[in-house]
Amino acid sequence: MKNFYQDGPSLTNTFQSDVLLQKFLKKILPADCQKQALPHLDRLGQRAATEMLTFAEDAESHPPVHVPFDPWGRRIDEIRVSAGWKAMEKIAAEEGIVATAYERKYGSYSRVYQMALLYLYSPSSAIFSCPLAMTDGAARALELYGTPEMKTRAIPHLTSRDPKTFWTAGQWMTERTGGSDVSGTSTDAHPFTGDSEFGATHSLHGTKWFTSATTSQMALTLARPDGAAAGSKGLSLFYLELRNDQEQLNHIQIHRLKDKLGTKALPTAELSLQGTPARMIGGEGDGIKKIASVLNITRIYNSICAIGHARRALDLAQSYSRKRKAFGKLLIDHPLHQETLRWLEDDFRRCFAFSFHIAHLLGKDEVGEINAKERTLLRTLTPVLKLYTAKKALAISSEVVEMFGGAGYVEDTGLPRLLRDAQVFTIWEGTTNVLSLDMLRAFEKEQSLPVLIEFFKTSKAFKTSAPAFISKWNEFETLIGSLQKSTPDEWERHARQLALLTGDLVSECMIVEHEL
Ligand SMILES: Cc1cc2nc3c(=O)[nH]c(=O)nc-3n(C[C@H](O)[C@H](O)[C@H](O)COP(=O)(O)OP(=O)(O)OC[C@H]3O[C@@H](n4cnc5c(N)ncnc54)[C@H](O)[C@@H]3O)c2cc1C
Repeated sequence: MKNFYQDGPSLTNTFQSDVLLQKFLKKILPADCQKQALPHLDRLGQRAATEMLTFAEDAESHPPVHVPFDPWGRRIDEIRVSAGWKAMEKIAAEEGIVATAYERKYGSYSRVYQMALLYLYSPSSAIFSCPLAMTDGAARALELYGTPEMKTRAIPHLTSRDPKTFWTAGQWMTERTGGSDVSGTSTDAHPFTGDSEFGATHSLHGTKWFTSATTSQMALTLARPDGAAAGSKGLSLFYLELRNDQEQLNHIQIHRLKDKLGTKALPTAELSLQGTPARMIGGEGDGIKKIASVLNITRIYNSICAIGHARRALDLAQSYSRKRKAFGKLLIDHPLHQETLRWLEDDFRRCFAFSFHIAHLLGKDEVGEINAKERTLLRTLTPVLKLYTAKKALAISSEVVEMFGGAGYVEDTGLPRLLRDAQVFTIWEGTTNVLSLDMLRAFEKEQSLPVLIEFFKTSKAFKTSAPAFISKWNEFETLIGSLQKSTPDEWERHARQLALLTGDLVSECMIVEHEL
């Protein structure tokens, strides 16, 4: 054993190795969609296991740099990104990660096809999936609320398959006073008087505390027009373009890039708007309602990226367990190691089934094929999906790091990044508690609890008394029963427990429904 060196884990084409994805898509996608999607996913799975890994490595080892001044002292606020990061943008456009959803070639299944692409793309993308989420969300908000000129100006870029014309978008909500609670937003919007290429209506003044993808061409942001009410009610949604035609920032000053726990390749800046030209979207007010159309998309992206991340962690653990020996045999031949992997794979399968169910509901909504009950479920379950998949992906990543023993804790194996990057899934786009409360809001505003209960009671899992479903169902019924006559504070106190149970139940329903 003197010259023993351990072989590391390896990846192969991530579509071909993903039996669950293939089985699900073959079951759900119509034949014409399969004909295009399956070879496309196969090609992307190959890229994800080869060239994208090299680009991701480059992007991670050359994080973005903020250059505030040129050599002569002029303020330039450049953000320099690596070649690997730029390559991710090119691949995203070429593969139509955003475009596939908006071409709507396969009706409601376009979202399923697109989310399958994202699922393969994201774990090899060094989190370029974050700008893509906001890009997709911006396209949807503009589709719903933009004027014809705004749609014509921005949507073709956001949904382009040509890397030369593709744009990404930012979503700037968080200020120093809060990201969950944006009622303290202090960005002001005054009437705009000059000329602007995109018909600016206002100029914005304020500070944004977290702006990911600061290299994007456009952003959607919240601000308070002159004379508008205090609190969330007075907020409106605005469109802005970051740079003018000479590539200079449009009255935006970047203060610094955040030094983050993970997502190292992703530029996330603090910046101030100093008279930035912006165009109000969809008239004054209802800013929160309008930006919710972005959040619906980014939360589903977060979920798909979380399960893609968990799949990657598990692929690495599965590969290593067939290469590493302890106590005279491969790890995979130890019953307890096998069992630990099985638990994690089960959790993963639940998240997969839940995520793609919601992706399909989103697709149905976008092409007008959703019925009233499904719409209520989409509204209620989107926050649940986000919080549930984020928590599971984080737990799976932590276990996988442990499954590598000491190697899992050593930076140049690349494994610690699995854990660092997974943590963000639980924070951005709404934390676990904030999303649990959002589910309660949907119970109240949409009267969705009876719809959810009916969904459970008519499911195959309920009718066939699937054991994993029934044990959670009993817990759920008991909890709901005990809350029926209690105060709003008691509902709040139990919101997280209720949301996690809901996540367990919906995923069990989907596993049984699709025989996954
Ligand atoms: C890497 C990264 C990139 C980001 N990029 C962006 C971006 O591009 N654009 C953007 O707008 N934002 C961005 N954010 C910000 C992110 O969305 C916020 O950090 C997040 O929404 C939480 O807001 P906060 O930081 O103000 O925390 P807070 O809202 O202060 O929350 C602190 C804690 O309080 C809990 N909490 C809050 N309210 C309640 C309640 N009512 N009941 C129970 N618990 C509660 C939360 O769950 C949390 O645990 C980014 C964050 C990170 C980490």
